[in-house]
Amino acid sequence: MTSNALLAEEKNIAHTRILDLRKEIKKASDAYYISDAPLMSDAVYDSLMRELIALENAYPEFADANSPSVTVGGGVSSQFEEVKHESKMYSLDNAMNFEELDSWVHKVEDELGVFPEFCLELKIDGLSIALTFDENKFVRAATRGDGVVGEDVTENVLFVQDVPRELSIQGAAKVENSKKPLELRGETYMPKSSFSALNKEAERINGEISCGHLKGKKEKLFANPRNAAAGSLRQKNPLVTRDRNLKTFMYSIASQDDVAITNQFDLLKWLANCGFHVNPDVTLANSIDEIHDFCKACLEKRDVLEYDIDGVVVKVNDFSLQEKLGFTSRAPKWAIAYKFPPEEKTTLLKDITVQVGRTGVLTPVAELEPVTIAGSVVSRATLHNEDEVVRKDVRIGDTVVVHKAGDVIPEVVGPILELRPKDAKPWEMAKKCPACGSTVVRIDGEVAHRCISLECPAQRLEKLKFWASREAMDIESLGSENISTLIDEGRVSDFADFYTLTVDEIKTLKTQRTNKDGEPVPVGEKNAIKIFESIQKSKFNNLDRVINGLGIPGIGKNLARDLSLHFSDMKELMNASPEDLAKIDGLGAILAKGVVDFFKIPQNLNVIDRLMELGVLMKSNSGGTADNLPLKSLTFVLTGTMVNSGMSRDEASDELRNLGAKVTSSVSKNTSFVVAGENAGSKREKAVALGVPILNEQDLVYILENRALPAR
Ligand code: AMP
Repeated sequence: MTSNALLAEEKNIAHTRILDLRKEIKKASDAYYISDAPLMSDAVYDSLMRELIALENAYPEFADANSPSVTVGGGVSSQFEEVKHESKMYSLDNAMNFEELDSWVHKVEDELGVFPEFCLELKIDGLSIALTFDENKFVRAATRGDGVVGEDVTENVLFVQDVPRELSIQGAAKVENSKKPLELRGETYMPKSSFSALNKEAERINGEISCGHLKGKKEKLFANPRNAAAGSLRQKNPLVTRDRNLKTFMYSIASQDDVAITNQFDLLKWLANCGFHVNPDVTLANSIDEIHDFCKACLEKRDVLEYDIDGVVVKVNDFSLQEKLGFTSRAPKWAIAYKFPPEEKTTLLKDITVQVGRTGVLTPVAELEPVTIAGSVVSRATLHNEDEVVRKDVRIGDTVVVHKAGDVIPEVVGPILELRPKDAKPWEMAKKCPACGSTVVRIDGEVAHRCISLECPAQRLEKLKFWASREAMDIESLGSENISTLIDEGRVSDFADFYTLTVDEIKTLKTQRTNKDGEPVPVGEKNAIKIFESIQKSKFNNLDRVINGLGIPGIGKNLARDLSLHFSDMKELMNASPEDLAKIDGLGAILAKGVVDFFKIPQNLNVIDRLMELGVLMKSNSGGTADNLPLKSLTFVLTGTMVNSGMSRDEASDELRNLGAKVTSSVSKNTSFVVAGENAGSKREKAVALGVPILNEQDLVYILENRALPAR
């Protein structure tokens, strides 16, 4: 494609996106302002609006006077009479971070030629209200509507307790034309406590209706206090409003000429003197630092306030300077709402990649167009597993909502379906491991898909570290640092490679320690011999350590031991049928199938063959005669501290299990013996109560040495 064709294509895509966004925002805005039933969170709404504004700025040729970016959101529901406002009720432009706020302040400063004083107020999250007083008497209340015409809610506001019926403006600022009605403006809100009480009561009633104790229509549950306030004020039946405990904070006047006041700060004082509630958190600021400090302080106290706030409104204080700056079609140029960092944003899901974890689990990861959420840039988020992707129905190309609260890990909440590209296809988990190409399996009953190849590079370091660990082959002195170097130098890539290492090779490996010239110190001959010897020693480990070391999904230390008690060597285990395996206590059909599948993977067979060739024995001490073990069918509980035998309780438990016993943690009538060490407490008492025989530490040592119970 030529560069012109590319540009045209880009423009086309942008146009389609602009139209889609406008439609979606308009729908959300109507739901919010007219139906009091938000379709999305404020943060998501703001995020879509931001995208629209950015695109409209980039492509001015698609400007439209009806775009939600240039109109005041809202309208008039047919339920209410229309009221024309004395002057337009505007919305506010938003600054989503300090950078945007600062650049707005600088713009204002440039335009005015001086740094003006600012009046800072809380942005109350309610709905705006216009109250008209004629000869100081309350006569009408209206919602913002589309800014020009609002809804008449006079009857309802009569039940809002803190709206005075009469103004007490004597002694306050001089009203120049007291005959002219005054239109005063502010915010109606519902306190958080009233909101939760309202929803709780609604839930109670709905519960009664559901179980047939009550008849009638279910009560509406509100999404947040703002919606509850809007839903409670915009009521056909004013008596409902009465019971909803709405409150107001007043902050402006329709016509500043109506009062002999010259700035916002004094206007607030005047409103308070008139008898209105005015929010006490107001301050004057004369520098950017002071503005930031106030915003930060408000964010901190946000949670302890009795009402919701969603930011700080920064207003040029002086009315004459406000007049100089004027308005856009949507908002004053002399004010801006600094919005608190949102915890949700929308962004493009560019791709879903698959990450292979150290245990072979495959995790789908959302690759996102980077967005700043709650102060940090988010470009990736885990989608956990295939079921989660299906449940959320996210597809590559979707516009998704991403949530991040403070330090919490970012999460993809879900897609905005209306903005989904037509060709977006449901996502499916890869069939082959992206790291090694081996076939991916999903164990029945597990949500995770796994790569179970022993040769998968993505799992290599962790797998090799586990093989060498004390839990598994116990290759002392071969630390994770050495293993990393061996992998980096291409010398070891699977377990079998450990057994091909020579002392000469090991001694030159670099450690993380450095000499005085900053160069890494090699392992050295003495340590190399130690490492080499412990590798050689591990060849004679019992079969259970080998099985555990292989890292077969679902097979940990205990099941590895159980398997080694039932099979005499690795060959026998590898030839076992799922039915043979499923008979082992605690294994079950699902894990049994997992074991069989593990031994079907060619790469795994290859590693095991090489281990055998290199002399790793993989034999069971028990000889695979689990049924003949001396403590078979006996159950032990160990309690108290072992002090004389030099064994910990865990070590003693392991030894007992090697003799075929079961070791559990609680005493019941099925317990065969309780071994009580020093300071044994309640378990000992329970054993006495249930008549379970109690052994002491010497008895235990006797059992382990003689592979038999002591004579009594
Ligand atoms: P928006 O709802 O995003 O259009 O934001 C503008 C709205 O913020 C106004 O219409 C007011 O209802 C509301 N608001 C809340 N607190 C204040 C305040 N202190 N000053 C001005 N507007 C406020």
